[in-house]
Amino acid sequence: MPKPNALLRPSPAGLYCPPGDFHIDPVRPVPRAVITHGHSDHARPGHGAVAATRETLAIMQARMGDGFAQATEALRYGQMIEHNGVEVSLVPAGHILGSAQIVLRWQGLTIVVSGDYKRRRDPTCPPFEPVRCDVFVTEATFGLPVFRHPDDVDEVAKVLKSLQQFPERTHLLGAYSLGKAQRLICLLREQGYDQTIFTHGALDEMNALYEKFGIDLGPLAPATTKKKKDFAGAIVVAPPTSIEDVWTRRFNDPLPAFASGWMRVRARARQRHVELPLILSDHADWDELTRTILEIDPGELWITHGEEEALCRWSELNGINARALELVGYEDATEGEA
Ligand SMILES: [Zn+2]
Ligand SMILES: [Zn+2]
Repeated sequence: MPKPNALLRPSPAGLYCPPGDFHIDPVRPVPRAVITHGHSDHARPGHGAVAATRETLAIMQARMGDGFAQATEALRYGQMIEHNGVEVSLVPAGHILGSAQIVLRWQGLTIVVSGDYKRRRDPTCPPFEPVRCDVFVTEATFGLPVFRHPDDVDEVAKVLKSLQQFPERTHLLGAYSLGKAQRLICLLREQGYDQTIFTHGALDEMNALYEKFGIDLGPLAPATTKKKKDFAGAIVVAPPTSIEDVWTRRFNDPLPAFASGWMRVRARARQRHVELPLILSDHADWDELTRTILEIDPGELWITHGEEEALCRWSELNGINARALELVGYEDATEGEA
């Protein structure tokens, strides 16, 4: 069996597959790219040919326009294509709509690039699917034992409880515009909240796209058309950057909340003047990371970015060879996205 490095290796543009001659989630324009999901640090414009799920391609088109790539190839989960003898297939990553792990098979060797993933249930995408492999490539955004995300049902229930406690205040929920916002809305619906949810214009396009792919978000309306008093006791969902700017002056005594894995860190919540921190993440926490690695039991673990050192040390202690790839360019979106 060839060495893993012959099938996949870090390069300045990102992970590169020499026999297949393509990159995965490249950070600069390349002739051929396979993309795990639509977040902007993974999906960038200017590539020649792009292969991804239909959902990810639709997200890229919506965010970057028709000319985001010269050619596209839409793949279904589980569908296999071949590139110069390298078999490529996509399996669910459980991160956001359309998110996929990329499975590479070549000369008896299997490498799985997981992109971003989580193991918790998400009503907006199919669950992460573990695939046996020689090398598992993982991120480690929350790769420290202090990062344990609580149950998301309890976190979302805090919003509804707060609404009962402060029925006059506009509950302003900061959530990243792709993935987190739609998941948060779905989780509110699952807990019986059936009133109109008001949304910042920056969410419109992604909300519509999720609806188009069959994710029911319930009654939504733009957070622009009403008088201040009409927003009393309402839920407004907005991008994280909007919850503390002048835009919020239109609301009745707004109560700022922020849904992110980083809300585990109290200093971050205080810094952003968040009154109601919601620890809700689309990334695996420490337990999900370590459970996934033990379940897959790969010959080798490659860590792309994040808390590489801690996860490396844990892996070695558990008898799994680990290697920090120190890829750059995948951190910029994590603050809001995580
Ligand atoms: Zn992501
Ligand atoms: Zn990412």
